[in-house]
Amino acid sequence: TSANPVPEKDCRTITPPYTKLTDNLAKVKRILDGRPLTLAEKILYSHITNPEETIPVRGETYLKLSPDRVAMQDASAQMAVLQFMLSGMKTTAVPSSIHCDHLIEAFAGADKDVDTAITNNKEIFDFLESAAKKYGIAFWRPGSGIIHQIVLENYAAPGKLMLGTDSHTPNAGGLGMLAIGVGGADAVDAMANIPWELKAPNVIGVKMTGKLNPWTSPKDVILKLAGDLTVRGGTGHIIEYFGEGTQTLSCTGMATICNMGAEVGATTSVFPYTDKMRGYLGATGRRAVAEAADAHKDFLRADEGSHYDKVIELNLSEIEPHINGPFTPDLSTPLSKFKDLVKEKGWKDELSAGLIGSCTNSSYEDMSRSASIARQAAAAGISTKSNFLVTPGSEQIRATIERDGQVKEFENAGAQVLANACGPCIGQWKRTDIDKSKPEENAILTSFNRNFRSRNDGNPKTMNFLAAPEIVTAMTFSGKLSFNPMTDSLQDKNGQEFRFEPPHGDDLPGQGFDAGRATYEPPSPTPTSDESVEIKVDPKSNRLQVLDPFDAWNGDEMKNLKVLVKVQGKCTTDHISAAGPWLKYKGHLQNIAENTLIGALNADNDKVNVVTDFTTGKEGSIPEVAKSYKSQNQPWMVIADHNYGEGSAREHAALQVRYLGCPLIVARSFARIHETNLKKQGVLPLTFANENDWEKLSGGDVVETIGVKGIAPGKAVTLVVKKQGGEQFEIEAKHTMSTDQIEWFQKGSALNLIKEKVNQ
Ligand code: SF4
Repeated sequence: TSANPVPEKDCRTITPPYTKLTDNLAKVKRILDGRPLTLAEKILYSHITNPEETIPVRGETYLKLSPDRVAMQDASAQMAVLQFMLSGMKTTAVPSSIHCDHLIEAFAGADKDVDTAITNNKEIFDFLESAAKKYGIAFWRPGSGIIHQIVLENYAAPGKLMLGTDSHTPNAGGLGMLAIGVGGADAVDAMANIPWELKAPNVIGVKMTGKLNPWTSPKDVILKLAGDLTVRGGTGHIIEYFGEGTQTLSCTGMATICNMGAEVGATTSVFPYTDKMRGYLGATGRRAVAEAADAHKDFLRADEGSHYDKVIELNLSEIEPHINGPFTPDLSTPLSKFKDLVKEKGWKDELSAGLIGSCTNSSYEDMSRSASIARQAAAAGISTKSNFLVTPGSEQIRATIERDGQVKEFENAGAQVLANACGPCIGQWKRTDIDKSKPEENAILTSFNRNFRSRNDGNPKTMNFLAAPEIVTAMTFSGKLSFNPMTDSLQDKNGQEFRFEPPHGDDLPGQGFDAGRATYEPPSPTPTSDESVEIKVDPKSNRLQVLDPFDAWNGDEMKNLKVLVKVQGKCTTDHISAAGPWLKYKGHLQNIAENTLIGALNADNDKVNVVTDFTTGKEGSIPEVAKSYKSQNQPWMVIADHNYGEGSAREHAALQVRYLGCPLIVARSFARIHETNLKKQGVLPLTFANENDWEKLSGGDVVETIGVKGIAPGKAVTLVVKKQGGEQFEIEAKHTMSTDQIEWFQKGSALNLIKEKVNQ
């Protein structure tokens, strides 16, 4: 029995409001003349803020949605919380949680690594914890586990809609939830009660038949599918699984499949409600949720006759284990052919490390199947030949597998059990077996989800392959990349041939889950504020900075705007606000603004991040000149090319330009999410009515608007452009601001507007 059994939870904020959702859906269905809907549509449309006013058309209309919950990880939560503080709200509008998982480096073992992270990131954790207390957000301390595993164990519920500030948020689709990865600004929308916008996604249906073979696991399903769909195949789509095969998979296995839907670019992935979900809810203290879901089974599956934009048929019985990579998750090779690939590519036939666990694959089933492999090897007297690292996804998993003996079996095999955190999955791996100053080619095999170059250990020459945890475990006992545990043998302690039996393990622990150590602030059933809490931010900190609200629009036309840079070609959110070493400043707007547009190509001189300061005539970097203009109260603007701001929902890309004094960006076209983010921060995004007018502008031009006064939906704005030589002309520009968005602009930002409403 458990030392600390998982108790029944207070499910008041976890159980979906099924009656309200089904009522909303009925309203939308009336508008759609009763058309049968996919499960993804049913969950999304039941969360439309004003169901009577929307006609959802997949791939065309924008939906305004009211999510039920928000989850944030420690890196992205910083700016989300700093922005939420500007809203003036006393609590978050929906239950929310913060998870300390990304800032923990794997090095000396679980406890020591957590202690080191707490010391090194004290101000960040203290800040997040105090904000959580103040605003009624659940706070999961370092060591509690990885955001997606904790959400699955505690908060996920069939039919709910959740936003998470992390791309693998869709993991909760394994429990029938529509969980979508977003940027911090979107999370702030939900927390501040601003309807969250999403273009109605198309839906790919994956029809599952059959049952997995003993050597195959749910991971192999998504590894195969990633190969078929490629990294772009799911873009603009939700992947929805259906068919009798879904009933054969464990809840956590379905979560693994949904988690890695992010690797094919899908908006999210979802499974219909199954008996395995019911069992998992019961085992994790949420019987009340299971009972409510049982009473709404019809809502929790696709309608008979619903239409998918594309259907993929998957016979689970025919899938074999796969190994994907290196460097991209869609390079998919069946295990039986991998040996030939190793030979053909001339890769060194050596596996330097095997890593199992992470948010993707650290379920009880994953751990017990992997431990069954380690047990067989131990009985045969075979030890691991590669480094072997295990990352439990949560304290609950760690405590349960410790109690049930799997931890011992891993450690006996020479494994190091790391902290319940992201660690090597996100480059937080102080790797000592490789000389970092002389990066050498080597191969690692992980059960993680992403394998971009350098992601795990910062070494661009580390070939990172993905596989199921039981395959990774078996291969560490051979130490060879070419080893096929299904067919090849090793030598046992007596020199005899040894071959692994297929792995086996339970999806749920027979003795129930052990909750482990208390590692989080128990949230109140509903978000409850504690106004007495002071949010701790050291004014001298270089990692955190309290935000000042942006100034409201002055009610006049924009005058004397200097074009800082005319951007040519691709300019993604990475070009506008770079990642890498800048990540440590995510909570400090002034410091991260030092990277503003450093990746942008200046059309006037063909140089990246070099512009002329037209107040001095000297060249400088974009942030330098922007700061100089700001210090002189010289407003500036950007002229941009096509699809400006594509790539991600990173709100820093909008916050930074606004912070440095840019109220206007005129582009040939915008990526929609970035365009909305600019609007939220009070920056006016305009597009050229005639795209060729982009040619007419250059750095140093001075622009004045006609039509910002009295701006209205659909009404054009004129730009009066004065060139350096004195020439003057007018060009026409368009905007896509709705009445609400115009109010954001007028108040200076969406959060200023919220604050005004809160204070009324
Ligand atoms: Fe992201 Fe990896 Fe952490 Fe999962 S374990 S949340 S994929 S960094």
